[in-house]
Amino acid sequence: MIREFDETIRGDRLHLDIQGIVQGVGFRPFVYQLATNLNLAGWVNNTADGVVIEIEGDRPQLEQFCQRLVQQLPPHAQIDRLHRHWISPQGQTDFHIQASESHPQRKTALILPDLATCSHCIEELFNPNNRRYRYPFINCTHCGPRYSIIATLPYDRPLTTMAGFPLCNNCQQEYDNPGDRRFHAQPNACEVCGPQLEFHPATNLPPLEAAQTLLRQGQILALKGLGGVQLLVNAQDEAAVQRLRQRKHRPSKPFAVMYPHLDAVRQDCSLSDSEAELLQSPAAPIVLLRQRHSRLAPSVAPNNPDIGVMLPYTPLHHLLLRDFPSPLVATSGNLSGEPICIENEETLQRLGNIADGFLLHNRPIARPVDDSVVRVMLDTPVMLRRARGYAPRTLSIPGLSQSVLAVGGYFKATVAIAFNENVFVSQHIGDLDNLASRQAFDYTLAKLASIYDFEPQVIVCDAHPDYPSTHVAQQLAQEEQLPLIRVQHHQAHILSVMAEHQLQAPVLGIAWDGTGYGDDGTLWGGELLQIDTSEAGYQRLAHCRSFPLPGGDRAAKEPRRVALGVLWECFGEDLFTKPSLLSLPPLQGFSASELKILQTALRRGINTPRSSSVGRLFDAIASLLGLQQRLSFEGEAAMALEFAARTVKTGEVYPISLSGGVWDWQEMLLGILGDRTSETSIPHIAAKFHNSLIEAIAQMLQTYHRPSVPIVLTGGCFQNQILLEGAIGRLQQMGLQPYINQQFPANDGGLSLGQIYRLSQF
Ligand code: ZN
Ligand code: ZN
Ligand code: FE
Repeated sequence: MIREFDETIRGDRLHLDIQGIVQGVGFRPFVYQLATNLNLAGWVNNTADGVVIEIEGDRPQLEQFCQRLVQQLPPHAQIDRLHRHWISPQGQTDFHIQASESHPQRKTALILPDLATCSHCIEELFNPNNRRYRYPFINCTHCGPRYSIIATLPYDRPLTTMAGFPLCNNCQQEYDNPGDRRFHAQPNACEVCGPQLEFHPATNLPPLEAAQTLLRQGQILALKGLGGVQLLVNAQDEAAVQRLRQRKHRPSKPFAVMYPHLDAVRQDCSLSDSEAELLQSPAAPIVLLRQRHSRLAPSVAPNNPDIGVMLPYTPLHHLLLRDFPSPLVATSGNLSGEPICIENEETLQRLGNIADGFLLHNRPIARPVDDSVVRVMLDTPVMLRRARGYAPRTLSIPGLSQSVLAVGGYFKATVAIAFNENVFVSQHIGDLDNLASRQAFDYTLAKLASIYDFEPQVIVCDAHPDYPSTHVAQQLAQEEQLPLIRVQHHQAHILSVMAEHQLQAPVLGIAWDGTGYGDDGTLWGGELLQIDTSEAGYQRLAHCRSFPLPGGDRAAKEPRRVALGVLWECFGEDLFTKPSLLSLPPLQGFSASELKILQTALRRGINTPRSSSVGRLFDAIASLLGLQQRLSFEGEAAMALEFAARTVKTGEVYPISLSGGVWDWQEMLLGILGDRTSETSIPHIAAKFHNSLIEAIAQMLQTYHRPSVPIVLTGGCFQNQILLEGAIGRLQQMGLQPYINQQFPANDGGLSLGQIYRLSQF
């Protein structure tokens, strides 16, 4: 940049281009205040890819400005890139905030996730002297809705779902005043100009009171929250919770509970400092906690010592829970398995048979964003479901210059887009096993792309030929004539960890999960892969010994079928003749004729795909121990085993055999059957089983690990705390430090991220 020298103008002028999370976080007022404090002139402006500042004055002040800009950032702001250069001074004397560019070249600014109500706003909400006293949509520059109200970029009110609410004079003054904590707070609103509550069916009570009355009577409330509708019911009222289960067709999958404040949580659960911090964080996720003298109704989380807990994260939740005598079940407003409702009409229709009353409002939700679920393991938050409060935060992948679209897998679907070295992973969508979810998948894909005017150059999908996401990818690739890359499922799991920690191949990864399409046509799920730079991008070094799954897909829902497959693999025909085997729990529930059919199927290999899945092995053992024969939700049997194992401390291990790249579980199985007939308790066997898996991991890595090659543990099985913490501890004894998924789920919700990272590993 050439500097022209002008005698009449003193000082210097800097041009700053800033990218990162700099919109909707009070960044411009912060810049304004900083500049005016330092007696600097110039302007600041939101653009579609961040913020531009031009600033003029004496050079020492300018340098101080740059320093403090980085050091004193507002709470939610984050600077990823900052380019600065000197330009000619213009003799400007004041500093101002310019209007946003309306026709940006390219939309790349980072969007903030929705943020829980801040302490300032809570204070005002309950302050009778404040003009927003008890106003359910109070927010400020540091809190409130973001992602769930943004239609497109740049982030300015007319492009959000607040467009239909013109600011009143008071709100406009706050919005325009750089000294106000609501300066340019796009969702700013008050009783006079902002969104309003409504209650259905019509009543004489004010909406909030009507809702509380309903809940006190043990009835079910549908509440339009931040990213969608929630179903609420008194969590201490067993009959009410059971009614919700029946109406929602959700027999046993645990419900999350919202508590009014942290002290109430402590009465029912044990709570570590990191868990408390997480609950109170701006993301305010559901945190899985251990129950302790809990007063919750048993049906909230049947046979489950844990509970998903969250705190109020919108003013409406605060108002609802403030004077309510008990915590509330708060679960997604949907039919089981379907996406969460966001529109009023749709809610009244779809949830009409579930909810007794509806507390809705007229601020539209731009896209469904479910509650996130996090568990603290090894004192670190580990993401189980990534949505509200986290999406669409980006992950940067240096060197990834292409525009890539990844469509993820099948269960716990997410999609991801990447451009300018940033990956945007969508919020959790759901399992693609029903039409409504598949529509939500298409919708999320379209919305994520449109918010950034994104057009892919490459599309990536799972190697499974029949996933609906694969079909969408194929169709898009064909229509747009784009290259389509298929990434093996477990390879993508390992790549997802590599993406988070910016690891480069070669990497050694253990990927254990329920199922994924293997490159030999069988179902994988107990894999040790080396990620490398070969054409396939990986090598299968070792795996769990495979076994047949009688009934194919049905086996995934019936652990007893998996147990049958595992037993058949060991005993063959003996399974159906030996009384000691015939009397095992998995065989008990089948009729003689069913057993006959299963025997024929196994003998002839009809509809009995082979699987090397450790997730299924968990199912088989849970069935053999009589813990679980059929599943009402994914992971139920594995959870039962984990909970059983928690109650016992033992170092005992079943024999492990690893040879020729196959980890054979047969001796372990024989050990378990032996223990079953002895006096050994079920929890003790469950604990030994976990120890054995940990030992198998240790032996595999002992065999295949090479110095300086990073190690990764991933896949849904590692959401099991005993397995994850145990494996990490055991590997640390061996001098190994494995990497794990933290910000993105180890389950299939992380696949889209891994698929994208594949592009950086060629
Ligand atoms: Zn606030
Ligand atoms: Zn107003
Ligand atoms: Fe998986």
